[in-house]
Amino acid sequence: MALIITDICINCGACEPECPNQAIYEPGSEWTMAEGTSLQGLVGLYNGSEVDAEDSQEALSDEFYFIVPEKCTGCKGFHEEEQCVAFCPVDDCILVHPDHDEPDETLYAKQAFLHGE
Ligand code: SF4
Ligand code: SF4
Repeated sequence: MALIITDICINCGACEPECPNQAIYEPGSEWTMAEGTSLQGLVGLYNGSEVDAEDSQEALSDEFYFIVPEKCTGCKGFHEEEQCVAFCPVDDCILVHPDHDEPDETLYAKQAFLHGE
């Protein structure tokens, strides 16, 4: 499953450098699919749009750190446990994204897609 940061986040930033896919961003930050991945050219997003991997996208939150669900693999292929959860000092701050509760095989496929493996 992809994860989501909830509104009990204290914006400490501890999670952001731990993500192997660079899926976590500061509040208000623009983001790209290319950052932290090997993606190039057009890629599809969950909302049905296609974007250039290098193009900047709007922040998903202006108040709290946020996770781009298209880039979150639950750390599959890199770590045994979700690194953002492991490093977050706030209990139950990072939860399963209700709209992106993907099975493991989907997450492994996403990891391979993101990193060209
Ligand atoms: Fe990144 Fe892993 Fe957290 Fe997903 S679960 S946002 S891949 S650190
Ligand atoms: Fe928010 Fe937890 Fe990340 Fe800190 S580690 S920025 S509290 S989600």
